[in-house]
Amino acid sequence: MRPELLRATDAEIDDAITYADPMVLRGLIHQLTGDPELEAVPLKTTTVWLMESTTPATDADVAMIRRKAADFLKSYRDGGAGKIDPGPAERLRKSIDLMFGETIPDESQGWVKEEIALDPWVRSLKWSAEPDTERLASFSVTIIGAGMGGLNAAIMLRRAGIPFTIVEKNDGVGGTWYDNRYPGARVDSPSRVYSHIFAVDYPCPYNYGPHAVNQAYFDWVADEYDLRDIIAFNTEVRALTWDEESSTWQIEAHGPDGKRTWRSNAVISAVGFLSRPNLPEIPGMSEFAGPSWHTAYWPNDAAVGGKRVAVIGTGCTGYQLVPELAKIAGHVTVFQRTPQWLMPLPNYLGKVPEQILWLDRNLPFHTNFMRLRNQYRSGADLGKMFDIDPDFVDPHSCSASNKALRDRSIAFLNAKLGDPDLVAAMTPAHPVWSARAVIVDEDYCILDALKLDNVSLVTSGAERIDATGIIAGDGSRHDVDVIVYATGFKANDFLHPMTITGRNGQTIGQFWEKDGARAYLGCMMPGFPNLWALYGPNTNGGLQVAAYHELTTIYALECIEKLILDHARSIEPMEEAFWRYNRLVDERNLGKVWSDPRAHNYCWVAKHGRSVSQNPFSGTEIWNFTRHPDFADLEVR
Ligand code: NAP
Repeated sequence: MRPELLRATDAEIDDAITYADPMVLRGLIHQLTGDPELEAVPLKTTTVWLMESTTPATDADVAMIRRKAADFLKSYRDGGAGKIDPGPAERLRKSIDLMFGETIPDESQGWVKEEIALDPWVRSLKWSAEPDTERLASFSVTIIGAGMGGLNAAIMLRRAGIPFTIVEKNDGVGGTWYDNRYPGARVDSPSRVYSHIFAVDYPCPYNYGPHAVNQAYFDWVADEYDLRDIIAFNTEVRALTWDEESSTWQIEAHGPDGKRTWRSNAVISAVGFLSRPNLPEIPGMSEFAGPSWHTAYWPNDAAVGGKRVAVIGTGCTGYQLVPELAKIAGHVTVFQRTPQWLMPLPNYLGKVPEQILWLDRNLPFHTNFMRLRNQYRSGADLGKMFDIDPDFVDPHSCSASNKALRDRSIAFLNAKLGDPDLVAAMTPAHPVWSARAVIVDEDYCILDALKLDNVSLVTSGAERIDATGIIAGDGSRHDVDVIVYATGFKANDFLHPMTITGRNGQTIGQFWEKDGARAYLGCMMPGFPNLWALYGPNTNGGLQVAAYHELTTIYALECIEKLILDHARSIEPMEEAFWRYNRLVDERNLGKVWSDPRAHNYCWVAKHGRSVSQNPFSGTEIWNFTRHPDFADLEVR
């Protein structure tokens, strides 16, 4: 029952519908009604943010779709707005194609049908046989971390009835969002897909949620699924040691009561890959007399109002922080070593119109179709801009579409800054997306901040720090009251700083010593049985984070199911399968812009000649790789 809809007037319904995405309405209303007229709508292709988008050809076509949607809602209201079916399953493929204005290929069907979240528990374990009660009760899993990945893993293990323990180093849930509270912190993936499929109806007041909204979502997950009481907070796992005899992991953690050890049959690491701050080593840092902190440790009582603040580091974090800091600080001095490419988005900072939120609540399955529209488009189209075209020769770009992105970004710099010296200072030397580009609001962003009287840019480096300020590379002195280090994370040190010792006493550090972190399907390592890493090596990109966590978790659960049902002791990838997958990762990464010799970022590790973070696969490929374990690739003992 939707009481809000029952009260709505025709005019309110018509108004709300004018805000909806007509292609979403086309697919959704087709699914609900089967109206053949919606199939015949002529389409045109437009370019939105350099991505091709299909829309109805004429205003009259848009009006027709809106009228049909409004008629549907009015008759649904008049019929009592009760429980409603999502329409026939066999119609769904056609309806999804109509929403995208294209034929979604066979190989994407599995992923797409899950991502629309009509079954919110489609990524939970369905036991293939009844587990032995005693065996199940004696099995245990430890989850490390209660951020996005760990919370989902806990919910899924509980649904499967598998006993587990969950520990978290912080004193609250949320992981990266718990840590990163600096002014301006905000997601750069659409919020619609920065949430779990079981939470498709969770309100999305922003297209890109700010810190507080994201943190509220994770608090909601913990409360809604009753997880808070079972999480051991302020407890940090320092070591995992595999015990061959018992086929268990010995876990060593440090918490409020000191050191604690216990054993688990399996471990799911959900520690994130941007969780350990990287502090620079600048001579004299310790001499600074004022307060200083890394952005991931932003104090709740940070007194920056009216103060002279230095920000060292200009990645996503620095560029998000400076425009907000400029509103409150007396003066902000930005120390930029490397500029980053900016991707301007209209209304990146803005709220979703109230009418869309109304549709989310009152138009059945609007949230589902909106989620899929955001997920599939961002995955498929963005990927094309990362490919190196070997025949495209250009001093700055790796393909025609990569160059178009660069041209657009430079046009934005010129339009915003005017001043050629400043434009030059803000123009990166590396190709677009060879390092993480920064999504910014078209109307107010770092470039607007740089033009303010209370913001200055230093590009000669922070050479030395003393009691009262920073001496730049050009010898200039910048006295400040506060220093903020926006210097990023130890992104390539996976599972750092835990000591993980697998079979035969081999540590994960030794295993990865030669050419950096690697995993089979981004989550499993031979010699480290019954261990899964969420968002492990080579998982960055290709798929939204929540979806990746969900897929790796259900993959782990299906492996655990095998252990339980077969009364087996351990499962790990075979060496051959591990290397086969990794050869493919490395080979495909060589065709991506982050392998360009001009790249400069954590995405590419020159030391090893390969990327340990980046995923070269599409969402469809990732889904097909990971959705169910291929037991031929795994050694079960
Ligand atoms: P980052 O991208 O690694 O940037 C770190 C910055 O610190 C760079 O400008 C780097 O300069 C500078 N730096 C590092 N060591 C330095 C030193 N010793 N002296 C001077 N400068 C130094 O870190 P981040 O900005 O925190 O972002 C990390 C990742 O977090 C991003 O790639 C993104 O995945 C994620 N993130 C996302 C969002 C979002 O969703 N909107 C927001 C923030 C972060 P060089 O480039 O010259 O090394």
